[in-house]
Amino acid sequence: MSQTDDSAKLMEAIVSLAKRRGFVFQSSEIYGGYNGFFDYGPLGIDLKKNIRDCWWDDMVRRRDDVVGIETSIIMHPKVWEASGHVGGFTDPLVDCKASKQRYRADQLFFAAVVVDGTTHGYVSALEAEDTAADLQAAAEKVKRKQALQGTLAPVVVQEFTEATPEQIPLIPSPATGEPGSLTPPRDFNMMFDTNVGALRDGSSKSYLRPETAQGMFVDFKNVVDTGRVKLPFGIAQIGKSFRNEITPRNFIFRSREFEQMEMEYFIHEDADWETAHKEWIQWCWDWLVSIGLPVSHLSLFDHEKAKLAFYSRGTTDIMFKYPFGVQELWGIAARGNYDLNQHAKASGKPQEIFDEESKKKFVPHVIEPAVGVDRIFLAVLAAAYAEEEITDDKGRTETRTVLRLSPRIAPVKVAVLPLLKKKEELTTRAKALYKKLQRRYAVFYDETGAIGRRYRRQDEIGTPWCVTIDFETIEGEGDTFTLRERDSMEQRRVTERELLDLLDEHVY
Ligand code: ATP
Repeated sequence: MSQTDDSAKLMEAIVSLAKRRGFVFQSSEIYGGYNGFFDYGPLGIDLKKNIRDCWWDDMVRRRDDVVGIETSIIMHPKVWEASGHVGGFTDPLVDCKASKQRYRADQLFFAAVVVDGTTHGYVSALEAEDTAADLQAAAEKVKRKQALQGTLAPVVVQEFTEATPEQIPLIPSPATGEPGSLTPPRDFNMMFDTNVGALRDGSSKSYLRPETAQGMFVDFKNVVDTGRVKLPFGIAQIGKSFRNEITPRNFIFRSREFEQMEMEYFIHEDADWETAHKEWIQWCWDWLVSIGLPVSHLSLFDHEKAKLAFYSRGTTDIMFKYPFGVQELWGIAARGNYDLNQHAKASGKPQEIFDEESKKKFVPHVIEPAVGVDRIFLAVLAAAYAEEEITDDKGRTETRTVLRLSPRIAPVKVAVLPLLKKKEELTTRAKALYKKLQRRYAVFYDETGAIGRRYRRQDEIGTPWCVTIDFETIEGEGDTFTLRERDSMEQRRVTERELLDLLDEHVY
């Protein structure tokens, strides 16, 4: 089986598990779904909340130099004019006039079919795990279909944004396979607009925020004046953002309503921004590893300086190897002081601060780590999902589905299982332990079905530990249990104290 088949299967398995076990549903599913919108189910919200809480704890609560904020989703429309979003928050849009499909030109690729040095038309493909291989396969098909003799040159992959006016009518639409229906790319603004107030005219036009970051810039002075902060310091926010993505796809990876965790780290105008940038890249990387993402799936991508916005000094993305390819997970940008300057100009309110140490007044510069919660959620599921063959104690083999989630983010930390439902002493002791653990941790009580089946149910939702209250428990002091570990499936006897210590060590 090819790698692409395996990846597609993994993606299918993740989407199916997410639905089956109540992690993620399509939004408005009974009406056929709504493209680009998703709902999080009972287990999904806990996993998502744990990701958010871990980030907030590590980014804000456990740091002395970062404070939190929550700003409104709809802000004054002038914010988005000053930030450049009204004028320039666009993606290049391509229409297929025949199928009415729309594509992002930077996610649509084409190549010439060249046989013995002569071009015999073009092939196209959407961005995929291996776009070059897809285009090569398409070119070979053209050669076969047209019965072309000679040697097919390896394809040269080009973005549709690079297509010349002469090439565009010759490039086939991915929807129909026929040339002639694709339009030249045009700018499409991704902000959702709405109207505020009773009047619906140009003066009431407003926007749903496409990022949370502008909230930190607009409230910069408020925080400085009230927050006892001094440079360098950060302002962090978690909240929903909205983008009218042309092609929402890959499940929750690219949606139209999503959640961001962003932090603006303000530094002195003369500070060594490269060092600060590097330190934040490292911090973000380490944090991802701390919630269980394997280093083998992570990589860094430095944006080419020439392609950055003029004010940007450097952007590095932490990339994750998703089943559909290596894609951006977390962007860490050094943005200079462009945003604060823009708001100072547009509002007429100076955004300088007086730095006690250097006795200087200036507009600070900023490093911005910006990440999507939903993208982390998907990365976590993809890395944690495993199917393995196991042999039970009767020698039968079966497939076990397991989510190897880090205890930090697992929606359920411990399942408490009385060995037998009908034995009251067992259930009474189990319920007492369950109630006690519940005060601090997300725990699950389950007394129905064979114990092996109950373990499997927990494996599938990523519960790191199961505790079984068995006869040894009630025959003794009632203080020891069988602890079963999800990944190794090993079982050992622990006391209640040992169980609490284990949780304390791993769930933080
Ligand atoms: P992309 O190039 O993938 O569209 P971007 O570079 O526009 O992303 P940023 O504007 O830097 O993204 O947003 C910061 C982070 O927010 C991204 O790294 C990503 O984790 C998340 N994000 C952005 N757009 C979406 C989306 N449509 N759905 C889910 N998460 C998103």
